[in-house]
Amino acid sequence: TISKQQIVRWLELAAEIFKEQQDFLTDLDREIGDADHGLNMNRGFQKVQEKLPGVADKDIGTIMKTTGMTLLSSIGGASGPLYGTFFIRSATSVMAKEELNLAELTQMLQNGVDGIVQRGKAEVGDKTMVDTWHGILESLNQDQESSLFDTLDKAVAEAEKAMKGTIPLQAKKGRASYLGERSIGHQDPGATSTYLLFSALRSAAV
Ligand code: ADP
Ligand code: MG
Ligand code: MG
Repeated sequence: TISKQQIVRWLELAAEIFKEQQDFLTDLDREIGDADHGLNMNRGFQKVQEKLPGVADKDIGTIMKTTGMTLLSSIGGASGPLYGTFFIRSATSVMAKEELNLAELTQMLQNGVDGIVQRGKAEVGDKTMVDTWHGILESLNQDQESSLFDTLDKAVAEAEKAMKGTIPLQAKKGRASYLGERSIGHQDPGATSTYLLFSALRSAAV
């Protein structure tokens, strides 16, 4: 299982990682966007970090929902509403829970990703964060019998593959799609931030 304390740790780690990787994400977004993705993610997760002490003793659903509302109101751009929706929708199946087993964690992430897809209408292969989320969920669903850590570890490897898999694709959604064929050959920033976010979850689950 993964405890509430580990969920809080996940979000703290994510804040640290987005701070460290701000320039990297912004550089990726400079290639096929408007050079703000690292700034957006760092700003959003610093705000989340500020809110965490106030909700750390609440249930996992409340922590996820507060994170989503905070991201929604602090990020802006395309990724703010999408990550905001991810956390808010993730919260729905984990209200009042203090720990999650693998099936519950998978369901939580699935609900979040369903929210991203409903909101952004991206399909797999459109060169967005959805590509990485799809790789993660497919991996988690195929590997529900192993230990939590092994399952997450495998899913991180699939997330990395999906992230790198965005390089040869032409963007069909978001700002990068305006570039048409010129978006080919660059790694998608949002697919990369999703990889980083999920890696932080794996690290927190140890
Ligand atoms: P903006 O493009 O508004 O500056 P960001 O730079 O923060 O926002 O985020 C860009 C990322 O958002 C892209 O790399 C892509 O992964 C993701 N994205 C954009 N549009 C969509 C969409 N409709 N569905 C899913 N993800 C999207
Ligand atoms: Mg941008
Ligand atoms: Mg922008």
